[in-house]
Amino acid sequence: MNDHLEPSGSHFIKAIIEGELASGKRDAVRTRFPPEPNGYLHIGHAKAICLNFGLAAEFGGTCNLRFDDSNPLSERQEYVDSIREDVAWLGFDWEDREYYASDYFEQLYDWAVVLIKKGKAYVDDLSAEEIREHRGTLTEPGRESPYRGRSVEENLDLFERMRNGDFPDGSKVLRAKIDMAAGNLNMRDPVMYRILRAEHYRQGSAWSIYPTYDFAHGQSDSLERITYSLCTLEFEDHRPLYDWFIENLEIFPSRQIEFARLNISHTVLSKRKLRLLVEDGHVAGWDDPRMPTLSGLRRRGYPAGAVRDFCNRIGIAKADSIVDLALLQHCAREELNRTALRRMAVLDPLKVVIENYPEGETEELEAVNNPEDDSAGTRLVPFSRELWIERADFMEDPPKKFFRLAPGREVRLRWGYFITCTDVVRNDSGEVVELRCTYDPETRGGQAPDGRKVRGTIHWVSARHAAPLEIRLYDHLFTRENPNQADEGKSFIDNLNPDSVTVRTAQGEPSLAEAKAGQSFQFERQGYFAADSRDHSSERPVFNRTVTLRDSWARAQKRS
Ligand code: ATP
Ligand code: MG
Repeated sequence: MNDHLEPSGSHFIKAIIEGELASGKRDAVRTRFPPEPNGYLHIGHAKAICLNFGLAAEFGGTCNLRFDDSNPLSERQEYVDSIREDVAWLGFDWEDREYYASDYFEQLYDWAVVLIKKGKAYVDDLSAEEIREHRGTLTEPGRESPYRGRSVEENLDLFERMRNGDFPDGSKVLRAKIDMAAGNLNMRDPVMYRILRAEHYRQGSAWSIYPTYDFAHGQSDSLERITYSLCTLEFEDHRPLYDWFIENLEIFPSRQIEFARLNISHTVLSKRKLRLLVEDGHVAGWDDPRMPTLSGLRRRGYPAGAVRDFCNRIGIAKADSIVDLALLQHCAREELNRTALRRMAVLDPLKVVIENYPEGETEELEAVNNPEDDSAGTRLVPFSRELWIERADFMEDPPKKFFRLAPGREVRLRWGYFITCTDVVRNDSGEVVELRCTYDPETRGGQAPDGRKVRGTIHWVSARHAAPLEIRLYDHLFTRENPNQADEGKSFIDNLNPDSVTVRTAQGEPSLAEAKAGQSFQFERQGYFAADSRDHSSERPVFNRTVTLRDSWARAQKRS
């Protein structure tokens, strides 16, 4: 089911896998995508999804969807549901391999007992604060806890009573007994379990102790016999601990490999920050079309194929970098150019009256739906005496290179006739409110029988037939290229762009009112727009601008 994936090129992880398969060190590729259900997925997660599912598909292996839900405080079923929806939307199928770390709590508990029995874990009564103080620094070794020498029997008893709820929250922890002088701080007796009376969204109040990420994640990989556990660079320093648990528990040896996380210009990709934007009302929700979440991108009109294409193009590296948002937009244009139906819509309408066209008459002009795809066919567009055109397509006193409408000038109406501007109507404040024009009935379909040429072609809609459209135009959510870089005493919130959305009423071809929610179109000469998945209806059509037609990425590539 995942074999429609575009090949993702070569990279160091693939080279490692090829080497291990060739030498016989491994005989299968089993990966997993392990989101914590504490927020919606963003485009950074798409990179991890494409990598994990892509490698499994390429090597004939499998990829699991595992919810890494060992921290009850911020996890919710709503997030699980959204994650499932987003991974499926991206085009990946985890079949029946949907797992939950919380389903492993009993096994993890048993493994903690194994380590206690081996003298490799102990119950510590130090407070969180004291543990931090004892930990030392990069230049100073840590100090051992006075409880480190407890006997196996005492530790077994205390740990069982921690589970039974005999002690208050935070009063004890279970720690691995490794080395308080280790150069790597993660190896200085890391915490494995803490006491926490919190409702878990799947386990209810069954547990009053919860495993830490370090004790849950690797062991979950091992239980699922994951061969390659791919994660982002910040876990590099956790790898010795990951391996330590595997060795000391003598369980399946998954191999952790780290890669650079995705950063995108003008965008934040941290769930914590995205959650803040939602909870403090800076955006309208996780699926606000300005959000870099997969649900936001989808609602904005980004096709799943464009997101996959983007993830393949950015590649997999070992060093952090910032990818230009223009590349993602470029991928969207490439796909939408192939697939989106063309329509005409006037975003800033100016009235045109064709004086020599009979009042009350209507005719239908044939228009091509997608010049890139013959199978998309044609449609009929109503034409009548009064039209809307784009205000920017008229200039009263145009410079030489302006080939659109001006007094005395002739232009072609897309799919229609040649018209000539004969007069300009103004309101009391001198603003142009209407153009009077004539049309040449001989030029139907855009050709003059006498062979005369016009330089400009403009889009239009028949005023009587037009559907008013609510149009939402989006700009960067943040003004800074790196929004995480805030000025002294400020936060990333201060980098929000106050003009990230503009709403206006456009006039569109009547058929746009019948668009399906989520459907994408190219509005000719304007950009790609998608019918909003929440607010659009035939009574009140609403469109989000996905991207403009201008391609700054393609231009930059040409220049370099
Ligand atoms: P955040 O730091 O944004 O909260 P996270 O890593 O805590 O993200 P998880 O739900 O734990 O979120 O992530 C699931 C998987 O997605 C992890 O394997 C993680 O490494 C990967 N991932 C998260 N963010 C990115 C990113 N920006 N680029 C690539 N992979 C990412
Ligand atoms: Mg995480």
